[in-house]
Amino acid sequence: MQSIDLRSDTITQPTPEMREAMYSAELGDDVYGEDPTVNRLEAVAAQVLGKEAGLFTASGTMGNLIAIMTHTNPGDEIFLDAGAHIYYYEVGGLSRVAGLVPHLIEGDRGLIRRHQLEQAVRPDNIHFPEPKLLCMENTHNRAGGRVLPHDEVLATTELAKQLGLRLHLDGARLFNAVAASSQAPAVLAAPFDSIMICLSKGLAAPMGSVLVGSTKFIAKARKIRKMLGGGMRQAGVAAAAGLWALEHMTDRLADDHERARSLGSGLTAIPGLSLLQPVETNMLYIQITVPGWNAEKLVAAWEERGVRSNAVAGDAIRLVTHWEIDDAQIQSVVAITKEILGAA
Ligand SMILES: *Cc1c(COP(=O)(O)O)cnc(C)c1O
Repeated sequence: MQSIDLRSDTITQPTPEMREAMYSAELGDDVYGEDPTVNRLEAVAAQVLGKEAGLFTASGTMGNLIAIMTHTNPGDEIFLDAGAHIYYYEVGGLSRVAGLVPHLIEGDRGLIRRHQLEQAVRPDNIHFPEPKLLCMENTHNRAGGRVLPHDEVLATTELAKQLGLRLHLDGARLFNAVAASSQAPAVLAAPFDSIMICLSKGLAAPMGSVLVGSTKFIAKARKIRKMLGGGMRQAGVAAAAGLWALEHMTDRLADDHERARSLGSGLTAIPGLSLLQPVETNMLYIQITVPGWNAEKLVAAWEERGVRSNAVAGDAIRLVTHWEIDDAQIQSVVAITKEILGAA
């Protein structure tokens, strides 16, 4: 039985063309700055996002950590939404490694509004840490793959700049926001000093992220990457897949969004299943209120029939679409679910 794996877009295998690109990549020692493929990936990412320079990192977590360390000094205050991946899912690196004081803001479904930032940033006082950095996330993972409304982002980031804060965007899935909003990547990136994008999520590369920013910022970030053990050698073998992903996989993300919406409407037509968040991109969070059922039980019943998912709470399951999921599989999941829950 072939499984229908909706646990995450990170489970995607590289495409055959990516493997070809990896095989034939021109390589060099990237710590010497001599890997032409890494250099090309960094330049293309910077150009697409409208920044001066880029830095290839092993993962999104590493890219975010390098970014926040480059922007701050230990002891500084960093402002984030309470559900931010950097706070919630990155093993506390912002405190343990970067030495920062997180100031969490309960955003509006992942969005820190201007007035919330205004209330959070305190005036200069001998007792307080230095307010230094605001991080935002687009699309927002824990807010259901939400696309942050661009005018709201502009309002908040404009204030942040007035307050002297630096700005970092966790854009692990920025290209999903691009596909859903029809705004150019450089437009969504423009309010921020630095942006991290993941190549290994919906873009399906086997590994890697790129951090972009000014030439000066990236020079400092490159040194911090080395300190963290992230200086790699013939890394072009991985960058080649990422470059192919960046050039060929972004335009098709709208198909994943369409399939997520169609899965959402199919599943919510079943009594006892509802959406916790509107489906805006390739993620759906389903709530189950069928008597005698909970998330774990549905995940297990699906698993027996080859459908893979992640329970995220006692009554909630996350499903993510990606390039290996087609329309027929979406229909199968709906049919299987009806059968399991006796709604067929
Ligand atoms: C996946 C993800 C990351 C981290 O990327 P890894 O490559 O898994 O370390 C960062 N931010 C968001 C929003 C993510 O979804």
